[in-house]
Amino acid sequence: MTQSKDMKNFDVVIIGAGIVGASIGYHLSERGAKVAIIDSGDPGSGASSHSFAWINAGFKHPYSYHEFSRKSMNMWDHLARKLDMEIGLLWGGKISWESTDEGAERLKQKILQAKQWGYPSRLITKPELQELAPQLSLGSVTAAEFTPVDGQVEPQLVIKACLKRAEEHGATIITNSKVLKYNEREDGDKLTALTTDSHKLSFDYLVIAAGVDTTKLAALAGINIPQQTSPGVVIRTNHQPPLLSSIPIIYAPGLDADHPEIHIRQCHNGTLMIGEGDQESIKEDDTQDHADDLLNRAIQYLPSLRNALPLPVPVGFRPMPLDGYPILGFAKNAPNVYIALTHSGVTLAPIIGEAAAIEILDNVKIESVAPYRPERFR
Ligand SMILES: Cc1cc2nc3c(=O)[nH]c(=O)nc-3n(C[C@H](O)[C@H](O)[C@H](O)COP(=O)(O)OP(=O)(O)OC[C@H]3O[C@@H](n4cnc5c(N)ncnc54)[C@H](O)[C@@H]3O)c2cc1C
Repeated sequence: MTQSKDMKNFDVVIIGAGIVGASIGYHLSERGAKVAIIDSGDPGSGASSHSFAWINAGFKHPYSYHEFSRKSMNMWDHLARKLDMEIGLLWGGKISWESTDEGAERLKQKILQAKQWGYPSRLITKPELQELAPQLSLGSVTAAEFTPVDGQVEPQLVIKACLKRAEEHGATIITNSKVLKYNEREDGDKLTALTTDSHKLSFDYLVIAAGVDTTKLAALAGINIPQQTSPGVVIRTNHQPPLLSSIPIIYAPGLDADHPEIHIRQCHNGTLMIGEGDQESIKEDDTQDHADDLLNRAIQYLPSLRNALPLPVPVGFRPMPLDGYPILGFAKNAPNVYIALTHSGVTLAPIIGEAAAIEILDNVKIESVAPYRPERFR
């Protein structure tokens, strides 16, 4: 690529203004780096807009990943204070319960594991559960859990706040501009420039935080970042009066194998989000029928939703590294390219933003990030 008059130079260019790229951009610009953040659409229009956005570390394995997630959870309050804008951060915990003996056994095992790792999940009785959430119609309860440290946030508000604060620190935000190619180079050389459909940018460092498109954009730079395809569906309702303000995250039992557990949370704007299965469940049905079904199942537990309208939401694709764990750090064969790809990016946005800024600007490798290096994929 030849230099042109309109080529603009930055210390760091970030591809992707989802919650991960926005957090990295904020943390870098806060440290004084000259940053550009580019997105092919509107900020947050990728996986971040589909996210259930439950902040948690409970059932994450192994211990090092649990600890990494827990540390990030604990960083959310600090990030919220620094951003000093409404981001919908709400603590209060998660409750779940089971209606079968097998489900109860599974839940007890999970709680035991969480406790052994120092996570304060605990078994509670049905009356305790009812007292925590009097609005719920519980039905049969064979075991119940309360995890007081879990919370939620609104990814779109986080992204907006990160980008606004980044801009105040001098960052350039470029939206609706798709990264198409990089400068040509020999393998092992640094990348120095990229072209979008409207801009040419040069940089000292490039961060690829493009969610599911990270694989494609990394391949253009000769970097192997394998992903699995992980579609998920979380429907919404129209706005409702406050329903879940004390315990924001609810996991309620399924009916059978075809109708697994459902999860419910109320967003900052009053809409409810309802999904089924766990955080990695593969779901592709984004029809009105499915939205109707999910809402009907939620009404069984939350009767005050009976007049709510079910609003289908198109399938969202989780950025999902092949082995399920984050991919973070500089690529061996493109030494100034930093990869930031992860599932659970809402929980992990604070730690990834801070860690990437330290690793890029201070030329150090953070020990807790070591299990997640790109070179584990050859
Ligand atoms: C259904 C569902 C439920 C989830 N639930 C949870 C949860 O409860 N808790 C949790 O922690 N996580 C959850 N996640 C995961 C979490 O939402 C994601 O890990 C996180 O949003 C990823 O953010 P990101 O910034 O990496 O990716 P994205 O939000 O996808 O952002 C990537 C951005 O890159 C841009 N881009 C792509 N290609 C280009 C290009 N060529 N040029 C310029 N820009 C480009 C895209 O437009 C996009 O805006 C869920 C995800 C889904 C889909």
